[in-house]
Amino acid sequence: MKRPKGKGRIWRRGEQGFDKAVLGTSFNARDSGARPDMLVEANSAEDAQWALLQAREKGWQVSIVSGGHSWAQNHLREGGLLLSMARINQIEIDPQAGVAKVGPGCWGLDLDRALKKHKLFFPIAHAPDVALGGFLLQGGFGWGSRALGIAAQSVIGIDLVLADGSLIHASETENSDIFWAARGSGPGFFAVVQRYHLRLHPRPKFTGMKVQVFRQEHLDDVFRWADDVGASVARSVEFQMLITPKAMGIFKPGIEVFAPVLANSWKKAREAVRFINDSPIRKLASFTTPLIPSSTSILSQTANITHFPPDVRWCADNIWTDAPIDDLLPGLNAIADTMPPAPSHALWLNWHPPKERPDMAFSLEANRYLAVYGEWKHAADDHKYENWATERMSAMQDHAVGIQLADENLGKRPSRFMKDENLMRLDSLRAKYDPSGMFRPWMGRPDQAN
Ligand SMILES: Cc1cc2nc3c(=O)[nH]c(=O)nc-3n(C[C@H](O)[C@H](O)[C@H](O)COP(=O)(O)OP(=O)(O)OC[C@H]3O[C@@H](n4cnc5c(N)ncnc54)[C@H](O)[C@@H]3O)c2cc1C
Repeated sequence: MKRPKGKGRIWRRGEQGFDKAVLGTSFNARDSGARPDMLVEANSAEDAQWALLQAREKGWQVSIVSGGHSWAQNHLREGGLLLSMARINQIEIDPQAGVAKVGPGCWGLDLDRALKKHKLFFPIAHAPDVALGGFLLQGGFGWGSRALGIAAQSVIGIDLVLADGSLIHASETENSDIFWAARGSGPGFFAVVQRYHLRLHPRPKFTGMKVQVFRQEHLDDVFRWADDVGASVARSVEFQMLITPKAMGIFKPGIEVFAPVLANSWKKAREAVRFINDSPIRKLASFTTPLIPSSTSILSQTANITHFPPDVRWCADNIWTDAPIDDLLPGLNAIADTMPPAPSHALWLNWHPPKERPDMAFSLEANRYLAVYGEWKHAADDHKYENWATERMSAMQDHAVGIQLADENLGKRPSRFMKDENLMRLDSLRAKYDPSGMFRPWMGRPDQAN
């Protein structure tokens, strides 16, 4: 993604440059053909209030974009208003209080760099240009989130604009029902986030990564092992595996085992990733690196270069699963056998959530997270690859407890994304705060699933 340049402006459908401005809001280079009637690039909360007033007067529905990293391009809908909050990206840090106030258009990388100077930390997303706007609404699996909690747990307040144009603050003690809804409703939130208030964490003294690579023929052994050790892996480690057609170093289909670790000393980090050296399948590995020190900024930027290049076309989908590994292996092998070209990949995240989280809309997770990301360059190949993610996850949906809104594909595969009672509560809050249905809801809902 490119950072937005200069002051924002208003674009009307049909005028020169309109299509480029609308499509430029999206990380995914696909073009469904959907266009809003108007795009407002807000520079301030007042601009957002003005845009909502226009929408109310014209009876338009509103979609919102911050960093544009919705794989499904949730903000690109036909007609109505598209409100871009990408330019509202200011960062204010109070190191003494351990609090930051951050605009929704702020990239994770920029926040991380600003916090580094104060030895402070926030669990930003794994790609540098994911913005806090959408990331925090859907929950937010950031660096260190297995230990610190999902990023939304570190949100302590939100300034937002409601459908009636009022600018309010929401927290545990003020407009607490809206605060509850904002932490987990993701692309179905019913207000415009103008600023987040974040609780910061001490910066881990050591950050690094250990990598191990296997050829695809070892897929069953690798996943059985990963499943076996999963529950015992230290919370400081984000143990993840990527199935890829061009694995690092071997340039062939394979499995990349990544173990990023955030710890308070080199010694603790080494202990936490020792399970990779001690593994019974180590001899099958094509290679294993030592633990390599690296900052979260560099890890994120490397992830973009190797796995998330810009200006390409994507399809993505995911499941949360607690199914026995033997039931999942046929699906995992089918993913590997049918994957579009590199850097397409599937992510298996050893998640094992804590037993309790604070009460918030986010309420569905499982021990393992599986997401698939198909990538291709040319529109001519859309028909070959565009349904790949949907087909692979549909084939495994009997083993799923639901999906996570980070990598959702609700327009094509409506699925359960939170507890039923939380969705009911969200529906009633939406009816209260957005009675005319001005803000676009999710592209699909669990009650539309087959
Ligand atoms: C390359 C890549 C890497 C990713 N890595 C991670 C990761 O490590 N962890 C993780 O949890 N997720 C990750 N994601 C998923 C990502 O966090 C979500 O797609 C998130 O919604 C993106 O936020 P955004 O502001 O960049 O995107 P947007 O597309 O701008 O936002 C997504 C949706 O959120 C809503 N929204 C956005 N801003 C506002 C606002 N200001 N007010 C109200 N509603 C708003 C809108 O409905 C919008 O359609 C990744 C996605 C990509 C493409």
